[in-house]
Amino acid sequence: MTSSSAGGDALLDSIGSYCSMCELFLPNAYDVWASSSGLLSRNEQNTAPADALILCRYCTAAVKRASTTGEHGLLPHRDRTFSLDASSPFIYELVTVDQILLDDDGKPLNTVQRMQYAVVVGTTAPARSTIALFALNTRYYDEAGRSIRIPKSAYDSLEDPRLRARTEAWNAATRAAARLSRAKGPLLRESVRAMIAGTGFWSTWATVLWKTLHDREMLIEVLMPPAHSSPTHAMQMGSAAANAQGAAADFSGTRSDWLS
Ligand SMILES: [Zn+2]
Repeated sequence: MTSSSAGGDALLDSIGSYCSMCELFLPNAYDVWASSSGLLSRNEQNTAPADALILCRYCTAAVKRASTTGEHGLLPHRDRTFSLDASSPFIYELVTVDQILLDDDGKPLNTVQRMQYAVVVGTTAPARSTIALFALNTRYYDEAGRSIRIPKSAYDSLEDPRLRARTEAWNAATRAAARLSRAKGPLLRESVRAMIAGTGFWSTWATVLWKTLHDREMLIEVLMPPAHSSPTHAMQMGSAAANAQGAAADFSGTRSDWLS
């Protein structure tokens, strides 16, 4: 982030410190992208158009590799991309993936590793277009074969950490859901809320918590900005803590109607 990114900072305030597309937490660098005009320079970000979204460097790299002209599929500022029921355009699943590391010549270095990754799957053609454009499961994932063939150098250097970060969020959500199923006190909810704010991937959290707990009120309390949480929750947190958490900025893309 630079001091010249006033427009970008305003976007961060309204969207949150998360990539609009992959929901990765963005403590530092980000890019601003408009579906109408493509990637914006730092100067252009000062007058970012209404369709501007914040992208992490990995989503930016994917857009640069693809053509930014034409159909972008589903975009969260204008389309519903997620819901808790089966009609959701994006669904998140923990799947077993055959992973092969490659040498610099593209030859396999090992036998197949069976890995578990939290992938996003598109249930509609526009959703699949979006996943492909932003390479939301990384450019090395082959959905049809449920396999990853990735150069060892790219794997070791975390060239694209999104898939592994989403999987870590899935696993953290699984552990949190187990704790929440046993005790649902305000302190535990507050702790889960802070974990979600620190990891991002709110759709992944929503998916796991909903499948495990089926408690809509709980989801709203840990995923929605304080203004959308219950007054009781705000009181339990204390007004200072609620204010410190800010408004919608803490929870990118979390729209109340998406959890209903
Ligand atoms: Zn991203």
